[in-house]
Amino acid sequence: MIAEIIAAGSEMLTPHRQDTNSLFLTAELNDLGVEVAFKTIVGDKLRHLTEVARTALARTDIVVFSGGLGPTEDDLTREAVAAALGVQIRRDPEILASLHKRFAARQMTMPPNNAKQADVLEGAVILKNGNGSAPGQLLDTVVGKYRKIVILLPGPPRELKPLFQEAVKPLLADILPPRRLARRSLRMALIPESQVDARTSPIYNSFPDVETTILAGHGEIQLHFMAAKVTLEEAQSRVDELAGLVEAEMEDAIFSSQGESLEEVVLMMMEMRHLTLSVAESCTGGLVGERLTAIPNSSRAFIGGAIVYTPELKTLFADVPREMVEMHGAVSPEVARALAEGIRARTGSSLGLSITGLAGPGTAPGKDAERPVGRVYIGLADGRESRVKELNLTGDREYIRWWASQHALEFLRRTLHQD
Ligand code: ATP
Ligand code: MG
Repeated sequence: MIAEIIAAGSEMLTPHRQDTNSLFLTAELNDLGVEVAFKTIVGDKLRHLTEVARTALARTDIVVFSGGLGPTEDDLTREAVAAALGVQIRRDPEILASLHKRFAARQMTMPPNNAKQADVLEGAVILKNGNGSAPGQLLDTVVGKYRKIVILLPGPPRELKPLFQEAVKPLLADILPPRRLARRSLRMALIPESQVDARTSPIYNSFPDVETTILAGHGEIQLHFMAAKVTLEEAQSRVDELAGLVEAEMEDAIFSSQGESLEEVVLMMMEMRHLTLSVAESCTGGLVGERLTAIPNSSRAFIGGAIVYTPELKTLFADVPREMVEMHGAVSPEVARALAEGIRARTGSSLGLSITGLAGPGTAPGKDAERPVGRVYIGLADGRESRVKELNLTGDREYIRWWASQHALEFLRRTLHQD
């Protein structure tokens, strides 16, 4: 079965408001085994609403409306659906009575407009709304020779969400074939999406019953696998089988296979080895420290560090010789190494990690004027040997800073992985 979500509301056709209900509804429908094939956003005009309702009914099995169930003149979803389906609207006396009661409970008389919230499509099941006045509706009907399920939900998310979960989901679960879902995701850092896809698509394409989604962004690729079967065991084993084959192909490029973030993984790896880490960050201004400390209990492995932005602070906090900066520039492999060794020695941590680079957009003074924007050095010292990695990043300041932090964490992970 495929579905269409129709978000009604002219405000979502302005730059000021976004349709977020459809994200929630898509996740819920997917869980029930329903593919969302279309999403439509439509303004509050009866003609337009009716037109999109007709189109949706012609091309999908389940049509979910969000919004337009209020009492005002621009709340027209009921009317549009009735017109598109050719069904009657009736005013439900029970809903009307409960609307009057709602107002009375607040010492108010109900304005006449509100009565239309008691309008129900002929044949629809009424879905009680515990958080607002307009109930939802579910109509299980036949158009031509096809079964269609039409669902009307109020627009405010705090009404729509519980209404869907409490009232719609059980009804749909009865209508739809039974299924259990299993999910698994693999995460990789700093690999081009095209490479991941080229290497893994022959594998996941041979699992047509597992849905594979690739998400890429912020220096990370995620592969999401989802299978739906009659039993959970069956679904889980298909997903695990596919994940296993992809893991074998991508090997140590995969940093997590149970959903953990890169930060969590490096912290876990250090904790297991009883290692501690300190950082000396220049161009990232503390971003690595911020990312690590965002994880609860990170202090078990991460002890802190310094933001050593100027040459003076590189000397003051990490003992980088002044002449070294003058001779090689602050953005140099020598300084990256000295920073990592210096912060490690100063703090007494097992590992010292450093980042020094040019985030741009302008160039830097002194020796660093020779370096291009995006040149970054990462240093990692463990007391026995020190490694330095050169990066040549492209992009704006924010992008370079993020990628530098990503490379630093991945460099740390790979080093820990080898040892
Ligand atoms: P009401 O009785 O409050 O008028 P309604 O069912 O008529 O409810 P709308 O008037 O369409 O719903 O929307 C009410 C509010 O709900 C909007 O101002 C907006 O804040 C929120 N809303 C509506 N649709 C969406 C959506 N698709 N995504 C996120 N928020 C929404
Ligand atoms: Mg409204």
